[in-house]
Amino acid sequence: MSHTCTDSLCEIDAGKYTCPMHPEIMEDKPGTCPKCGMALESISVEAEDDNEELDYMSKRFWVSVVLAVPVFIVAMMSDLAPQFLPDMISMSQVQWFEFILATPVVLWAGYPFFIRGYQSIKTWNLNMFTLIAIGVGAAYIYSIVALLAPEIFPALMQTQEGLISGGFNSPTLGS
Ligand SMILES: [Zn+2]
Repeated sequence: MSHTCTDSLCEIDAGKYTCPMHPEIMEDKPGTCPKCGMALESISVEAEDDNEELDYMSKRFWVSVVLAVPVFIVAMMSDLAPQFLPDMISMSQVQWFEFILATPVVLWAGYPFFIRGYQSIKTWNLNMFTLIAIGVGAAYIYSIVALLAPEIFPALMQTQEGLISGGFNSPTLGS
Protein backbone atom coordinates (compact mmCIF):
# COMPACT_ATOMS: atom_id res chain seq x y z
CA MET A 1 0.00 0.00 0.00
CA SER A 2 1.17 3.52 -0.65
CA HIS A 3 0.31 7.00 0.45
CA THR A 4 1.65 10.42 -0.45
CA CYS A 5 3.78 12.10 2.16
CA THR A 6 3.29 15.74 2.83
CA ASP A 7 4.93 16.16 6.21
CA SER A 8 8.53 15.72 7.24
CA LEU A 9 7.72 12.72 9.45
CA CYS A 10 7.45 10.65 6.31
CA GLU A 11 11.17 11.12 5.74
CA ILE A 12 11.59 8.41 8.36
CA ASP A 13 10.85 5.74 5.80
CA ALA A 14 12.71 7.60 3.08
CA GLY A 15 16.13 6.37 4.14
CA LYS A 16 18.95 6.36 6.65
CA TYR A 17 20.67 9.30 8.28
CA THR A 18 24.37 9.71 8.89
CA CYS A 19 26.78 12.19 10.45
CA PRO A 20 28.98 14.20 8.06
CA MET A 21 31.90 13.60 10.44
CA HIS A 22 31.14 10.01 11.44
CA PRO A 23 30.01 7.90 8.47
CA GLU A 24 29.74 4.87 10.74
CA ILE A 25 26.74 6.49 12.43
CA MET A 26 23.56 5.15 10.88
CA GLU A 27 20.19 6.24 12.24
CA ASP A 28 16.69 5.51 11.00
CA LYS A 29 15.39 8.99 11.66
CA PRO A 30 16.72 12.55 11.56
CA GLY A 31 18.43 13.78 14.70
CA THR A 32 21.86 14.54 16.03
CA CYS A 33 25.04 12.50 15.96
CA PRO A 34 25.56 10.61 19.25
CA LYS A 35 29.32 11.19 18.92
CA CYS A 36 29.67 14.87 18.04
CA GLY A 37 26.15 16.30 18.18
CA MET A 38 26.04 17.55 14.59
CA ALA A 39 22.78 17.35 12.65
CA LEU A 40 22.48 14.05 10.83
CA GLU A 41 22.13 14.16 7.05
CA SER A 42 19.90 12.03 4.93
CA ILE A 43 21.74 9.53 2.76
CA SER A 44 19.16 8.54 0.18
CA VAL A 45 17.13 11.72 -0.07
CA GLU A 46 18.67 14.98 -1.21
CA ALA A 47 19.35 16.87 2.00
CA GLU A 48 16.59 19.43 1.80
CA ASP A 49 16.58 20.20 5.50
CA ASP A 50 20.15 21.51 5.51
CA ASN A 51 18.70 25.00 5.52
CA GLU A 52 16.09 24.10 8.10
CA GLU A 53 18.73 23.58 10.75
CA LEU A 54 20.45 26.81 9.73
CA ASP A 55 17.21 28.83 9.76
CA TYR A 56 16.27 27.34 13.10
CA MET A 57 19.62 28.19 14.67
CA SER A 58 19.87 31.68 13.20
CA LYS A 59 16.33 32.50 14.37
CA ARG A 60 17.32 31.53 17.89
CA PHE A 61 20.53 33.47 17.53
CA TRP A 62 18.85 36.76 16.52
CA VAL A 63 16.14 36.56 19.18
CA SER A 64 18.93 35.97 21.70
CA VAL A 65 20.84 39.00 20.48
CA VAL A 66 17.77 41.21 20.87
CA LEU A 67 17.26 39.97 24.44
CA ALA A 68 20.93 39.88 25.39
CA VAL A 69 21.92 43.38 24.27
CA PRO A 70 19.91 45.26 26.95
CA VAL A 71 21.14 42.79 29.59
CA PHE A 72 24.70 43.44 28.50
CA ILE A 73 24.28 47.23 28.49
CA VAL A 74 22.62 47.31 31.91
CA ALA A 75 25.21 44.93 33.35
CA MET A 76 28.03 47.08 32.01
CA MET A 77 26.46 50.27 33.36
CA SER A 78 25.78 48.85 36.80
CA ASP A 79 29.35 47.56 37.05
CA LEU A 80 31.34 50.38 35.48
CA ALA A 81 29.21 53.49 35.73
CA PRO A 82 26.40 53.08 38.28
CA GLN A 83 26.02 56.85 38.42
CA PHE A 84 24.39 56.77 34.96
CA LEU A 85 21.57 54.53 36.15
CA PRO A 86 18.56 56.45 37.42
CA ASP A 87 18.65 56.85 41.19
CA MET A 88 15.30 55.14 41.60
CA ILE A 89 16.60 51.85 40.18
CA SER A 90 18.13 49.61 42.83
CA MET A 91 20.77 47.00 42.23
CA SER A 92 18.33 44.17 42.87
CA GLN A 93 15.94 45.60 40.28
CA VAL A 94 18.80 45.57 37.80
CA GLN A 95 19.45 41.92 38.64
CA TRP A 96 15.80 40.97 38.21
CA PHE A 97 15.70 42.79 34.87
CA GLU A 98 18.78 40.85 33.75
CA PHE A 99 17.30 37.61 35.03
CA ILE A 100 13.98 38.08 33.19
CA LEU A 101 15.67 38.87 29.87
CA ALA A 102 18.39 36.26 30.24
CA THR A 103 16.08 33.35 31.07
CA PRO A 104 14.53 32.91 27.59
CA VAL A 105 17.98 33.28 26.04
CA VAL A 106 19.43 30.53 28.18
CA LEU A 107 16.48 28.14 28.20
CA TRP A 108 15.08 28.61 24.70
CA ALA A 109 18.08 29.60 22.59
CA GLY A 110 20.36 27.30 24.56
CA TYR A 111 17.97 24.35 24.40
CA PRO A 112 19.59 22.61 21.41
CA PHE A 113 22.98 22.99 23.08
CA PHE A 114 21.74 21.50 26.34
CA ILE A 115 20.21 18.54 24.50
CA ARG A 116 23.42 17.87 22.60
CA GLY A 117 25.55 18.46 25.67
CA TYR A 118 23.47 15.99 27.64
CA GLN A 119 23.69 13.49 24.80
CA SER A 120 27.47 13.87 24.63
CA ILE A 121 27.85 13.27 28.37
CA LYS A 122 25.47 10.32 28.33
CA THR A 123 27.38 8.61 25.54
CA TRP A 124 30.71 9.91 26.89
CA ASN A 125 31.62 11.51 23.57
CA LEU A 126 32.62 14.89 24.93
CA ASN A 127 32.66 17.70 22.38
CA MET A 128 32.11 21.41 22.10
CA PHE A 129 28.43 21.07 23.00
CA THR A 130 29.48 19.53 26.32
CA LEU A 131 31.52 22.62 27.10
CA ILE A 132 28.83 25.08 26.02
CA ALA A 133 26.08 23.27 27.95
CA ILE A 134 28.11 22.98 31.16
CA GLY A 135 29.49 26.53 30.93
CA VAL A 136 26.17 28.25 30.21
CA GLY A 137 24.25 26.03 32.62
CA ALA A 138 26.67 26.64 35.49
CA ALA A 139 26.76 30.41 34.91
CA TYR A 140 22.98 30.56 34.78
CA ILE A 141 22.44 28.51 37.94
CA TYR A 142 25.09 30.60 39.69
CA SER A 143 23.23 33.80 38.74
CA ILE A 144 19.90 32.46 39.98
CA VAL A 145 21.41 31.45 43.33
CA ALA A 146 23.11 34.83 43.63
CA LEU A 147 19.80 36.55 42.88
CA LEU A 148 17.52 34.52 45.12
CA ALA A 149 19.84 33.65 48.00
CA PRO A 150 22.75 36.11 48.17
CA GLU A 151 23.12 35.33 51.89
CA ILE A 152 24.55 31.87 51.20
CA PHE A 153 27.65 33.47 49.68
CA PRO A 154 30.46 34.45 52.05
CA ALA A 155 30.18 38.00 53.34
CA LEU A 156 33.50 38.86 51.72
CA MET A 157 32.15 37.98 48.26
CA GLN A 158 28.99 39.95 48.84
CA THR A 159 30.87 43.20 49.20
CA GLN A 160 33.37 42.62 46.42
CA GLU A 161 31.29 40.95 43.74
CA GLY A 162 28.57 43.18 42.31
CA LEU A 163 26.49 40.26 41.03
CA ILE A 164 26.10 38.74 44.45
CA SER A 165 25.70 41.91 46.42
CA GLY A 166 21.96 42.02 45.74
CA GLY A 167 20.04 44.71 47.59
CA PHE A 168 22.99 45.81 49.69
CA ASN A 169 24.53 47.80 46.92
CA SER A 170 21.79 50.18 45.79
CA PRO A 171 23.17 53.44 44.45
CA THR A 172 23.30 56.12 47.09
CA LEU A 173 21.31 59.24 46.40
CA GLY A 174 23.25 62.45 45.77
CA SER A 175 24.10 64.44 48.90
ZN1 LIG B 1 29.43 12.90 14.40
